[in-house]
Amino acid sequence: MSRRNLIKEEILSIREYVPGRSTNDIAHMYGFDPNSIIKLGSNENVLGPSPMAVEALINHAPQMSVYPSADASELVNALSEYTGFPAHNIAASGPGMDGLIDGLMRLIVTRGNEIIIPAPTFAYYEIAARANGAVPVFIKRDENYAVNVEAVKNAESSHTRMVFLCSPNNPSGNLIPEEDVRAIAEFTHGFVFVDEAYVEFADSSLAHLVNKYDNIIVGRTFSKAFGLAGLRIGYGIMPQWLKLEYMRAATPFNVSGAAIAAGSAALSDKKYLNESIELVRTGRVFLKEHIPFKVYDSQANFVMVDVAPLKARDFCESLLAKGLIVRDCTSFFGAGNSLIRVTVGTKEQNKRVVEWFDEIKDL
Ligand SMILES: *Cc1c(COP(=O)(O)O)cnc(C)c1O
Repeated sequence: MSRRNLIKEEILSIREYVPGRSTNDIAHMYGFDPNSIIKLGSNENVLGPSPMAVEALINHAPQMSVYPSADASELVNALSEYTGFPAHNIAASGPGMDGLIDGLMRLIVTRGNEIIIPAPTFAYYEIAARANGAVPVFIKRDENYAVNVEAVKNAESSHTRMVFLCSPNNPSGNLIPEEDVRAIAEFTHGFVFVDEAYVEFADSSLAHLVNKYDNIIVGRTFSKAFGLAGLRIGYGIMPQWLKLEYMRAATPFNVSGAAIAAGSAALSDKKYLNESIELVRTGRVFLKEHIPFKVYDSQANFVMVDVAPLKARDFCESLLAKGLIVRDCTSFFGAGNSLIRVTVGTKEQNKRVVEWFDEIKDL
């Protein structure tokens, strides 16, 4: 007897998440050596992990049989030093910042609530909202992918529980101005989640607003600048009162001992972090100057390219056939069909990217 009817209606409403392509898939499909493939589709750190994080992970291995601290206190303390916020404002999260977003949705959303999402943006907001019974209310970003504050205001209702503001925005790379975040935090009935997954590559952060508003949460991750995507660590900076409520419902031990060890070490590896940031800052200027299409300004470790009148899907397929993985943005709600997101690579990789974009543009 099928029990599909027991699956909650809200779960059945979720569209399948389309992840970036994996190296093994592509190697298999085209018969490449996996090591020869250039993967610039998921905004990972192209330098690999910090050697200090690797060493900490290995040193941690003999302790795998023991539960870690329930609230990842060692990592939270390291984050307190890194961010300048007291530990009572910081909640660490596994699996990744995605886990934080899901935990917050679980905390505040019931069926029929609304979540405001300025599209195109990061896809997981919609999934987490729907899985917890909320209805995503999409508003369209303007032609430069800025959030229209008036449109947020018009979308706002007594059912609103959260507004997701990604800054720098994935996939467009732009920051949201501080005055816009302040305005939204002031008029909304709900919370404002500022997603700073890429903040290390940006000129400024909005985290200081957590001290001024009791409804702003800033999400961060170790998956991008810190090169630990595979370990799944994120954290939230939030008002003290909210952290207390959040921790009530959080899964205990949700950050693994391995993640605590490697994450803390990564935070202390300033040399690796600075190298990562420097590589991205010079690389994104190079890509913008040399890719033969419209490339949007970016504050993140990727650039968004508009290949119109060509189709992003065809263009990405042609790049795949050469062994280059980039992100076709067609599956991003509201992104149209000509946008491609390219992670900034090493110097050599960026040269390849430009070369191949040049070759394919006339096909
Ligand atoms: C990568 C990414 C995240 C998720 O990070 P994890 O910590 O790996 O779950 C969140 N938001 C945005 C915008 C991202 O690009």
